[in-house]
Order: sequence, then C-alpha cells, then structure tokens
Amino acid sequence: MIENSLDTRVFPFFNKQGTEYIYSGLSGLILEYDELVKEAVSESGKASDEIYDYIFSDPFVNTDFTFFEEEPFIDTLTIFTTNQCNLNCSYCFEKVNQIDKSLRMDIKTFRDGINFFISNFTYDSVINIAFFGGEPLLNFHFMKEAVDFLEEIEKRNKVKFTYCVTTNGTLLNQKEIADFLISNDFNVTISIDGNQKEHDKNRHFLNGNGSYQMITQNVKELSKYMDITARTTITSPHTDFVALYEDLHSTGVKGIILDFVSAKDKYKKEDYEALAENLKAFADYCIDNIKQKKVIRIKNFLETLHSIHYGSRNGPKYFPCEAGVSYYSLVPGGDIYPCHRFNNVKEYWYGNIYESFNNDRRREFSSSHMVFVRNAGKCMDCWAKYLCGGTCYNAAYYSEGDSILNSEIHCDFKREIIKSCLYIYASLNENDRVFLDNIL
Ligand code: SF4
Ligand code: SF4
Repeated sequence: MIENSLDTRVFPFFNKQGTEYIYSGLSGLILEYDELVKEAVSESGKASDEIYDYIFSDPFVNTDFTFFEEEPFIDTLTIFTTNQCNLNCSYCFEKVNQIDKSLRMDIKTFRDGINFFISNFTYDSVINIAFFGGEPLLNFHFMKEAVDFLEEIEKRNKVKFTYCVTTNGTLLNQKEIADFLISNDFNVTISIDGNQKEHDKNRHFLNGNGSYQMITQNVKELSKYMDITARTTITSPHTDFVALYEDLHSTGVKGIILDFVSAKDKYKKEDYEALAENLKAFADYCIDNIKQKKVIRIKNFLETLHSIHYGSRNGPKYFPCEAGVSYYSLVPGGDIYPCHRFNNVKEYWYGNIYESFNNDRRREFSSSHMVFVRNAGKCMDCWAKYLCGGTCYNAAYYSEGDSILNSEIHCDFKREIIKSCLYIYASLNENDRVFLDNIL
C-alpha cells in the first residue's frame, strides 16, 4: 500500500482478490489503478484529460449552500426526558455535563416546545421525536402524556410523528412499558457493550452488579415483537469486531450502531495497526456473508457502503450529522441546543421556546463546521471527507476543547471504517452488488 506517498485527496487500496484500485475523494469514483490512472495521479502529463478529470474534478465544492440563509428546518427533536438513571456507567457523559441530579421534562414544557417548533420551523411531513436521558423510561408517565399530546397535534396539522427511545434496557420487562413501545411503533435502541464481560465492566447498577443478564433477557423477549438496535461503545482499537458482532447478534438485536468513546489520549502506532487488522478481518467476514446473501447490520458500515454504492447520487457528507441543521434538543426549562450531548453547555445554546430561536447562531455554527472549513482545512485535504463529513462535534469539544477541531480518535476510527467499506465494495462482484442494492 502506498498511501501518503500520493496526493492526500486520493486513496489507493487492494481488494480481496489482490487488484489495486483508487478512490477519488473529490469525485467519489473508484477506478482500477492501472497504468493510465497511475499516470494521471502522478501528473506525468501523459494521461488523458478525461481520466485526470474523473479523479480530480470536484463537483461538490462549489455547491450553493442556500440552506444557511433559510428559515430553520427540523426533522428530529430530542427530548431530554430525565437525567436520572438506575445504572452507574463508567463513561457516562452526563457526569461530564454535571447536570443537576433531579431534572425531568414536564408535559407543559413539552407541549409548549412542540407548538414552538411547529410554528417557527419548517418541516416535511414527518418529525421524529427522540426520548433521551439519563434513562428516559424512568419518566414513563411523561412519555405517555407526550405521545397522547402528539396524536392530538397530528389531527390538527399536516404532520406525522415517529418515535424513538434510547434506553439502557433494564425496564423493558415492565409490561406496560413494553406494550406502549410496541403499540406506538417505537424505534428502540439499547446500549449494550458486546459480551457480558465487556458490558458489565462499564455498565453496572449503583451496587456494582452488572446489567448484561437482565438486559439481554429483556431484548430476547421484546425482539419477538419489534426490531431492536444495539448502541455499542467501542473503547479500544484492539476490539475484535467479528466477536463483538456475533456476541451482540446472539442477544437478538437486529441492528448495531458503533459509538467511539471520546478520549484525550492518543493511540500509538501499534494500536492503529491492531485496529486496521481487526477491521480487515471484519471486512472479510462481511464479504463472506454478503456472498451468502446475509446482511451484517452495523449501521456505520451500511451507511458508508450506501454512500459508496450510490456515489454522487447520494450526495456527499458535508457534516458528521444533522445536529443544528435539522436536529435539535429540547431540555427542561425550554432551552434549545443543536444536540443532546451539548445540553446545558452555554456556548451551544440556540435559544429558548419562551424567548426566541437564534437562527444567526445556527447559521454561524453550520457554516463554520462544514467539512470544507473544519479543522483549519485538514478535512478538505482528506480523501475520506465526502464519506465522513468530519467527526462528532461533541467528541471534538470534549477531547480537543473545540467542536471546530476533529477528535483525533474518532477521525482515525472513521477513516479505518471507510477504508474497510471500500475494500468490501471493491471485492464484491455484480451479483453481490445487486443484493447490496436491495438491502441498502
Ligand atoms: S474527520 Fe478525519 S477522516 Fe473525516 S474528513 Fe476529517 S480528516 Fe478525514
Ligand atoms: S454532535 Fe455528535 S452526538 Fe451530537 S448528533 Fe452529532 S454525532 Fe451525534
């Protein structure tokens, strides 16, 4: 592999069969790395203009970002339901935010909040309401009242609400809660960290007992009636991703989202080598499964494969997520933030439902955090930029001290996952890609 000896905006790689390809981080095209392409990349002048353009033309860089000037748009509202929790996880970020111990969303603030967003924001026909905590199901009575209220709103407005909840899974054995989630078609995401040993090391009750057994029992039961997603925090570059997937899959969850722990410590060279090796083994596992028409539902991989497969039709990623673009967080008291992880962080305050929404702040945040300008132009020169969009703002804020920078650890994790997805994609034949087309 000759990465780094080339223009940093292109990435050469081998597929499983040993053929070398090049991915252009400007046009989003994957080309076989033959003599003509090598000439184009080395700018020897012999390659045709057409090939040079395939690799180095960037149709996205001059995009007119008029949405910065527009009225605020919403498609997801996260509700800070409660900061109370019945677990005491070692990496919980709420402890970092130091939120007062007894905060709970009340139904009046919620109603006023929904009315505020419906009146002051534009939206398409669907708004997703995401209940978040702490452990949101500890404020179950509020969640029921909230859904009743939204059903009333649907009758009077051209809007439909969908629901999701991120929970630690410990309360899903309560029949009333399970019935409510099933009957309102909730998208349920449960935090589970791999196998029992890994999970119980970090995710334990206040008395120190692990929560794995209780949670997996609850997942087993509820997954008879709905698809459940696991959110898993990766704390080490030495993670065996195949074992992690198989452990999680055996609990009955359908999909998996990988989160990377935010840390100030940097990894060493051997850590990166281990990460690359583990992801390569996982990529081979994915290829073998796709060839047997089986899907490995890890969202981080499926989303990247989707972007590679659909290329420019899918549009590049200008941001890591929709925080502050179409995604907002509402907290008790009515304050609005671009993301639930910035709740109560003063620099990221966007306004209050009882005062006003600061649209200038939103524009300023989005335009200063897009991938072209992020991290003093470092992302702009990165071949992965349109598949990545930059790192989580909140991870950067806590690890580097400023959301405009990139969290180094997240950057490396993201780039390695993107490399694995390019390897997977280039190793598939036409039939495999037709299968992929149907599942993406
Ligand atoms: S965050 Fe890292 S991987 Fe992503 S575009 Fe920026 S430099 Fe590249
Ligand atoms: S800023 Fe980070 S935590 Fe917040 S929505 Fe974006 S990716 Fe998620």
